[in-house]
Amino acid sequence: MRKRIVAGNWKMNLDHREGARLAGEILGGLKNRVPQCEIVVMPSFTSLHAVGEALRGSCVSLGAQDLWHEESGAFTGEVSAGMISAAGCRYVLVGHSERRHILGEGRDLLSEKLRAALKGGLSPIYCVGELIEEREAGRAEETVSRQVEEVLGGLDAGGMSKVAIAYEPVWAIGTGRTATTGDASGMHGVIRDLLSKLFGRGTAGETPILYGGSVKPDNARALLSAGDIDGALVGGASLAGDSFLGIVFPT
Ligand code: PEP
Repeated sequence: MRKRIVAGNWKMNLDHREGARLAGEILGGLKNRVPQCEIVVMPSFTSLHAVGEALRGSCVSLGAQDLWHEESGAFTGEVSAGMISAAGCRYVLVGHSERRHILGEGRDLLSEKLRAALKGGLSPIYCVGELIEEREAGRAEETVSRQVEEVLGGLDAGGMSKVAIAYEPVWAIGTGRTATTGDASGMHGVIRDLLSKLFGRGTAGETPILYGGSVKPDNARALLSAGDIDGALVGGASLAGDSFLGIVFPT
């Protein structure tokens, strides 16, 4: 059965004390409940250690929001896959829209980062998604397909087995606008068909495809029960224990 994941991307929020407190709140809310998904929290680099300590021995996994693709050296300000893994992370985001569109990251760099994550033993969550202009011009599927193929194309089945994809329409991130369940599920189907062409049906069927873009407790149930949606990548609503848990356990 395909893995389901709900991941909280804390972005540039919460210092290490606040992060450890939120981790404690999440663990408190999990007592005597069995989540139907893997839960991941992705604090900033400076909070990884403290949050990792707070989560030690629990079922909640740690992830980082980004990495640099070189193993070490003169790359001031950057953090390698090895460092992230040593800090206790299993997951790392690659290609989040804020890195694509604010920091200008594109195909070549994202390919290198994704391969460095795999080489360093991390599971990348590779983010794709169209801009509003691309959707309005009828080019959403073409954009997302290109983003999938240009970075994931050429991976072997072993590599792909560690990858999850997050479909996050850029116009839905942090805006309160959510894709309709049908639109999201339709795009997930497009991605899965493409994975099938690139890697075969077996690998395509095993790859988790998460939805991201203003997921909240009140829309989580509809989104997470739609066909081909295997979980959520959550920004704003992951910053408070009750709203994040309301997505992990949607009602
Ligand atoms: C995100 O940053 O990946 C995201 C989906 O943010 P939000 O949930 O706030 O839209």
